[in-house]
Amino acid sequence: MLFEDIISLDGPHTKSMLKVLFEERGIRIKKQWGQNFLIDQNLLQFIVKTAELSRNDVVLEIGAGTGSLTRLLAQNAEHVFAIEVDRKLFEILEETLKDFNNVTLINKDILKSKHHIQPEIVEAISDHISTANSSTEDLCVKVIANLPYYISTPVIIDLLQEVLPIKTMILMLQRDTTERIMAHPGTKDYGVLSIMTRLFAEVKVLKKLSPQVFWPAPLVDSAVVKMTVNRHTYVDTIRDYRGFQDVVRSIYSSRRKTLSNSLLSLCSSHGIKKNETRQDLMTILERVGIRPESRGEELEIEKLIELSNEVSDYVSLQKNPE
Ligand code: SAH
Repeated sequence: MLFEDIISLDGPHTKSMLKVLFEERGIRIKKQWGQNFLIDQNLLQFIVKTAELSRNDVVLEIGAGTGSLTRLLAQNAEHVFAIEVDRKLFEILEETLKDFNNVTLINKDILKSKHHIQPEIVEAISDHISTANSSTEDLCVKVIANLPYYISTPVIIDLLQEVLPIKTMILMLQRDTTERIMAHPGTKDYGVLSIMTRLFAEVKVLKKLSPQVFWPAPLVDSAVVKMTVNRHTYVDTIRDYRGFQDVVRSIYSSRRKTLSNSLLSLCSSHGIKKNETRQDLMTILERVGIRPESRGEELEIEKLIELSNEVSDYVSLQKNPE
């Protein structure tokens, strides 16, 4: 086989092909960007099949790498927005996808900050949806990603709260992220990620993955997870969504604190530091039926919403007394 044939970007991106390609282009694999490439061709097919793509689907692929999955997605979807942060991989991506006219490649970080998806990316997709004339149904968005570990939690939480009409997400995630998503109250894994996914999606773990489906093989197991976005009726019982986010963040970012102490810090971050604040918070906790010395990981979602409703009312009343 000729050297050029081995590294043809049109063929399968196997381990040996990627090794030769990266060596030839002087590309070093960047662990800090979670670069573990999918080399199992059956798994690529499985992902595409699971996504049930049609000509009404706009795909957002995060971390497109060398484009092996992107190409399959483009063959089946109306349009693909593929995001890749690494400049050198992006150049390869452009070559792999050069024959497709339904792909937009974006060389950017998916996150603008921990709490925000890059607005330009959201805008590009929104514009596309509002201008494309789909003959039958409205276009909807499917997110597909072999997500780098270091950004999985913020990306999932931010996307679930985005304005985009996301229908499903098919994600490859490391085992501990999956465990945190599926965790129940009262366990150590229960936290913001479990709460947000429960509020906005139904989650299924479709397939466990051995490290060998990636190159380089990561140290831990992964899984393919499908999230069907579906705002839970709980969401409508939240009186002030910003206040809810505030309460959730304050409770789960300081897990060793008791609830009353976390809420006290939240109040003081709003400039509420009165002698009676602690007592007021105790009264709220009692009214909602929560022991003040309990911790966030014990709270069921219904209780958390009840509590946040009371706390946001209290905070706004203290800041703007009538
Ligand atoms: N989808 C490819 C590559 C997966 S590896 C495959 O399955 O083979 C994860 C990819 O995400 C890498 O290409 C990495 O460079 C990219 N990436 C890492 N952090 C990113 C970020 N913040 N925004 C966009 N892409 C990112």
